Amino acid sequence: MPHELTELKIKTVTKAAHTPTERLTADICVVGAGIAGLSAAVEASALGRSVVLVDALPVLGGQCVNSLIGLFCGVYGNGPEYRQLTHGIFDPMFADLGKTGDIHFNKSHTMTVSYDEVVLGRWIENLVQSLNIQVVLGASVLEVEAGEGTLRSATFATRHGLVGVTATGFVDASGDASLTWEAGLACRVPERTIWGSQQIRLENLREEFRPEHAELSARVHEKADEYGLLRRDGLAFFFPGRNTAVMNMTHVEAPLEAVPAARAQLEGRRQADRVVEFLRREFPKAFGEAKVRTYGFPGRRQTRWIAAEHQLTVDEVRTGHRFGDAVARTAWPIELHDRPEGYVWETYDSDHVHYVPLRSLLPIGTHNLVAAGRCVDGDAAALSSVRVMGPCAAMGFGAAHALDLAGTGSVQEIDHTELRTRLHANVDS
Ligand SMILES: Cc1cc2nc3c(=O)[nH]c(=O)nc-3n(C[C@H](O)[C@H](O)[C@H](O)COP(=O)(O)OP(=O)(O)OC[C@H]3O[C@@H](n4cnc5c(N)ncnc54)[C@H](O)[C@@H]3O)c2cc1C
Repeated sequence: MPHELTELKIKTVTKAAHTPTERLTADICVVGAGIAGLSAAVEASALGRSVVLVDALPVLGGQCVNSLIGLFCGVYGNGPEYRQLTHGIFDPMFADLGKTGDIHFNKSHTMTVSYDEVVLGRWIENLVQSLNIQVVLGASVLEVEAGEGTLRSATFATRHGLVGVTATGFVDASGDASLTWEAGLACRVPERTIWGSQQIRLENLREEFRPEHAELSARVHEKADEYGLLRRDGLAFFFPGRNTAVMNMTHVEAPLEAVPAARAQLEGRRQADRVVEFLRREFPKAFGEAKVRTYGFPGRRQTRWIAAEHQLTVDEVRTGHRFGDAVARTAWPIELHDRPEGYVWETYDSDHVHYVPLRSLLPIGTHNLVAAGRCVDGDAAALSSVRVMGPCAAMGFGAAHALDLAGTGSVQEIDHTELRTRLHANVDS
């Protein structure tokens, strides 16, 4: 008699004719778990609302974690004061990551915050779990049931079948306005590509020999053709003391169709490899032994965004126009990647701040849908500033409060004075 390894039996199964849709119900359904959606979900939960947070990726964190952005921009104002303009999720995040040395504050014309994306990813997962936010991952929005400006439910396709979410309020934090698009509402796209990038984190660097930004950019400009580089400038974000850096040196298209998007993803990686070759040969002291630790998921800047009640304009950015229904503010420059070789960069004075109104988050004619993050409405230049992660988080925070104030009513009709009181720390302090 042979020795039994296990008592485990197996059974034979076949797919039923109609696989049932898994159904969830919540006060708020947030689509997109990048910095904007996370901020919205966490704040809605803090307000006592039940939350379902859905993302097409199999992980939380959106681009912030998975595209290796590596640097929070637009959270602080310009120097010399470096006022904190957005609080909310950043306060506990910076406090916790600060204890383990996993963030670093960099002062130049403004203050940016470098972070370790692995540590941040786990911090986000722990936070979401501790708040009992219902997470659905690997789930792409498939269809939306809506009528007379009100969304009732959204269905998502996952590798395990369909998931339906019925909610009182919805946040479109998908970056590509996917929820708004599937609801059949008007969206905007740029007439020509706004370039994305393939970010990489390099390790094995010698930070003490790092080239200055101007030197790196000048060398790329001079040698781009020789190395087959499309983009003729470059940014290296070293994490102090770790001999690693996130490199932002490619320009890759960010299509909205599946097959071209996959092609662009592979093209991005090829460009990134050429960048590594360039760095190793041109800056051997700093990059001679460089290894790619991680290739990020495709970095997408401005792809498709909502057509809202108000389109933020570059003039409103330049003049710092103050809106009665402001939900976010930043001092970040215009940073428009509308050409393959580089980008438009316009900085502002030390006391400059510009704002995003709630109306730029509200798809025209809708009552319970609020966008947040890089898919809110602006002209191409205005959006290129307010899409950085500081204001994206503030918009998520604002979206949660707007939907909370609306309850079962219309978010178009909430009291802006009450909203402003609630968002004081992010727009008035
Ligand atoms: C290369 C690059 C460098 C950048 N550098 C900086 C920087 O240094 N500092 C800075 O602050 N900002 C930077 N930005 C801008 C910033 O990273 C993004 O604009 C910001 O992260 C957007 O956050 P979000 O939450 O709006 O969207 P995202 O982070 O894009 O999250 C959207 C989420 O929605 C999900 N989603 C999309 N479609 C669907 C769907 N159909 N169904 C379900 N889920 C869906 C996605 O999977 C994703 O996780 C950079 C951007 C890029 C591309």
